Amino acid sequence: MFKQPSNLKPETLNPDPILGIDLGTTNSLVGVVDSGFPILLADENGSRSTPSAVCIAEDGTITVGAPALRQRALHPTRTITSVKRLIGRRAGEAGWAPPYSLNELNTTPVEVSAEILKHLKAVAERALEQSVSKAVITVPAYFNDAQRTATKRAGELADLEVVRILSEPTAAALAYGLDKLSEHQKVAVYDLGGGTFDVSVLEMRDGVFQVLSTAGDTQLGGDDLDRSLAQFIAERLNLPSHDIRVLEGAEVVKKRLSTDDTTSFHGLDITRAELEKIARPWIERTRMHCLRALSDAGVKAEELDEVILVGGSTRMPLVRDYVREIFGREPNTSQNPDEAIALGATIQAGILSGSLRQVLLLDVTPLSLGIETFGGLMNIIIPRNTTIPAKAGEMFTNAVANQDSMLIRILQGERELAKDNWELGRIEVPFPAGPKGSARVGVQFSLDANGILHVLARDTATNQDITLEIRGTAIDVEDERVEQMIAESVDFAFEDMNERIWTEAMLKAEELLPAVDAALAQLGDVISQDESQNVRDQAAQVKKLLESVNHDAKALKSATQQLDDATQSLAVMLIDRAMEESLARRGLV
Ligand code: ADP
Ligand code: MG
Repeated sequence: MFKQPSNLKPETLNPDPILGIDLGTTNSLVGVVDSGFPILLADENGSRSTPSAVCIAEDGTITVGAPALRQRALHPTRTITSVKRLIGRRAGEAGWAPPYSLNELNTTPVEVSAEILKHLKAVAERALEQSVSKAVITVPAYFNDAQRTATKRAGELADLEVVRILSEPTAAALAYGLDKLSEHQKVAVYDLGGGTFDVSVLEMRDGVFQVLSTAGDTQLGGDDLDRSLAQFIAERLNLPSHDIRVLEGAEVVKKRLSTDDTTSFHGLDITRAELEKIARPWIERTRMHCLRALSDAGVKAEELDEVILVGGSTRMPLVRDYVREIFGREPNTSQNPDEAIALGATIQAGILSGSLRQVLLLDVTPLSLGIETFGGLMNIIIPRNTTIPAKAGEMFTNAVANQDSMLIRILQGERELAKDNWELGRIEVPFPAGPKGSARVGVQFSLDANGILHVLARDTATNQDITLEIRGTAIDVEDERVEQMIAESVDFAFEDMNERIWTEAMLKAEELLPAVDAALAQLGDVISQDESQNVRDQAAQVKKLLESVNHDAKALKSATQQLDDATQSLAVMLIDRAMEESLARRGLV
């Protein structure tokens, strides 16, 4: 019967979720880890992206998102967009004049950003049907302390404890699943959004991304292309180009042309080729920043392991062509570029809240690791396919009397005989000479998370340690060599196994034969002629098999086994006899 725990509660989703927030220049998104998966949350209209726009009406009413954008046509000076460009900066520092005046609106960039965050918090609380109080918020890699602190303050004003400020490129890399890259692998993050362009080079160090360099243009984004396209359309349709409807229409046209070859606006046909002609000089401007980021990082394009795309504008095929050409490699397009940062923030939030178990793809040992033992056999210590880190050890002893050291050969491979495996290293362990089996040497293998094999050999009598570090080779083996080793181990499985059985039986026989001779010498008068002849015959059979050229492992094994059984009874007799003699000496029988 199943035991039913009396206090079993239905698993609550997450008692204290942490939101992941991309507070973007143009668009902002929010996500959470739900039942182990990062998901982005939609508002009541089903939209997962909120325009970073805030409208402050004359009566002080605040609207956020798409409704605020709609107000822009009516109240251009009361609708605040791109406030991210101003946050944490001193007045006039931004080098960008917004069409609105925060002074006149009696607000600050932090307060406006807080309104966007409050909205995102509400979207999340509605979707999750629970209150939330914590968030991870992303900022551009180049944000300075003042900008980061201001972003954090905006979070606090929105009643969110900002548990982490995360760099956007790092978030993007997380979203693309690049946290499983190995040490020193490098990634370029090309982020072309609505109003800004950023490019960063990251390197994996000690399991976390380091931003090696970042470059870009805070005045370069999809909006610029919208304006140029609006002008193109306005000229053809005889409309004022700064008309907000033409501008908005241009953006719709631009987006459609990312998937369609042609589209139309108020009866005007526009082709992708026409858009690309307008877009070319604009995209071309990203090139020098990419080259700059590479040179600042001291990284050549061909040394990059991945190039990832972020930002809505990278949905344009022409942008992808440029990226491919600039970096000389196919960009990774496996994620939605406009959602990658929010997704990465959510993954980070999930890791921090413990609701997302960081599923590390652990490396496994491609081949078994072991040492050579007496008789030239492979003794496996860490079997193949063991996940690392791993630790295992065994005790070994001297096989020969008066031996004063043990040579330990560290081997890798699947073959039964040491000679057929690869030697990774060797160490010699000295110990006091003594009878056979008197030494006690412990050998421990520990394979750390970086694939470095630490071998420790200890003479337990003296507690003397000898260590050896084997870098890389324990884990980094070319696939081809692994396959070949495994194939050979299968091909030679029969022969190898025969050889192992033979060697083991041989070692046993060599130990038994002298013991049998000694026992017979002592017991010759006690056991019958027949009995002693029988044991002698068995010993002769073992000797014969040992000397034969074709190693008949099975025969040797069973002959040795029989001899061992016979010797057991001789051993019992020897003990009985010793006992009798002792009792007789003491006059008890
Ligand atoms: P930000 O990081 O600045 O907040 P986003 O990453 O959301 O911006 O990108 C917004 C920009 O992406 C806008 O200029 C928008 O027009 C553009 N964009 C979104 N979707 C597409 C698309 N399918 N084709 C081309 N541009 C797009
Ligand atoms: Mg962005």
